[in-house]
Amino acid sequence: MSLELRSRIFDELNSIPFIDPHTHINALNPTSKNLADILGYHYYTELAHSAGLQKSKIENDNISSKELVATLVDKFDCLNNTIQYSWFVEMLAELFGINEPLDASNWENIFDDTESQLANENWCDTVFEKSKLKGVFLTNDFDDSLEGFDTKKFIPCLRTDDLVFHLAKPETQSRLNKCTNIDVVDRASLDSAIAKLFEHFVSKNAKACAISIPPDFAPEQIVDGRADKAIESLLKNGLDADSADKVAASKYVFWKLAENCHENKLPFDLMIGVNRGVFAEGVFQGQDLYDSRVSLIQYRELFNHFADVTFPISVLASVTNQELTSYAWIFPNVVTNGHWWYSNTPTFIEHDAGARLEAVPRNKQIGYYSDMYKMEFALPKFAMYKRILAKLLAEKFVIDRSWSESAAIDFGKQVLRDNSESIFGC
Ligand SMILES: [Zn+2]
Repeated sequence: MSLELRSRIFDELNSIPFIDPHTHINALNPTSKNLADILGYHYYTELAHSAGLQKSKIENDNISSKELVATLVDKFDCLNNTIQYSWFVEMLAELFGINEPLDASNWENIFDDTESQLANENWCDTVFEKSKLKGVFLTNDFDDSLEGFDTKKFIPCLRTDDLVFHLAKPETQSRLNKCTNIDVVDRASLDSAIAKLFEHFVSKNAKACAISIPPDFAPEQIVDGRADKAIESLLKNGLDADSADKVAASKYVFWKLAENCHENKLPFDLMIGVNRGVFAEGVFQGQDLYDSRVSLIQYRELFNHFADVTFPISVLASVTNQELTSYAWIFPNVVTNGHWWYSNTPTFIEHDAGARLEAVPRNKQIGYYSDMYKMEFALPKFAMYKRILAKLLAEKFVIDRSWSESAAIDFGKQVLRDNSESIFGC
């Protein structure tokens, strides 16, 4: 009974169009050019590196796309147990109509076949359609002009890591001056520049502000006098500024962003817990890890102070999921958001989503986002999530709690589709 029920619920979930509320898609170049773009995704390069492939064979300007694919395919016998590998298999079948596993004998033919399919001028539309996507959120640098694409389909999101954590860099300061036409010389002009960024993004249909945050960061309100001194120090001394001034300026800017979210009624996506550069010799984007010492108690002041700012929260690892579930359970402004990075594998999704489905108000759960860099990944990643969601709804709601099948399906659609539209106002 359970298997058939699961598959009926999955089919229903799989039939509805929805929005992907967090990706790293480049709206001007959203799809892959060839298999090297697809297998160059860090989920594959880091696994191949971890399984023994030298970094110099992956990251080397002298390697052609075909050489890179041949090298990675050669490592598939060590990776074919992973869920990331199964995304690739499902993508080949569902998007490209290729149903044979890639190996040393066939990879070059498949490379050529997929390359010609990817070159089709309608490819991006085909991917949107097959993936049932209505739109995807972007991750835009604060100085992105947001020109040249349909912002209803590629929805801007103001990414603010550079402003909060890298304002000491002269490059960040000059980018900010340039894109706002404001000469940032003190706290007041910094405030004006930040307000102008929000104005620009909101005018271009931005639906969220977002940031990824290291585990030791604890937002707090900084008094004006202290902020004046910190910002002056960063503007004058750049990276040589005193580290206490850098921390105070970070906290000040973060708080200012939250104020602007309040004024512009934008949700503030917090992606909490990433330690950058833990494995310094890792491949590109395969260097960062989580740190179990992070706690949402560090955000107590923020959540209490900004009662009417919605904070969709992603945590990097399942160990923080119970805290997130509990915070979303009692704070009206805390929303659970997707299954990020190291918790984006079926075992952790099932555990984490199961806890949320049974304990967090149903209108406060954003089920999933792909976090993809190329459009081809939405279909297999969302398919993974929908299968787990169907399993949880079948087992924990229909069987264990005697919900009707249609009530369970409605709940699934709300978590997969409706909540991201209502929370972000799409
Ligand atoms: Zn991301």
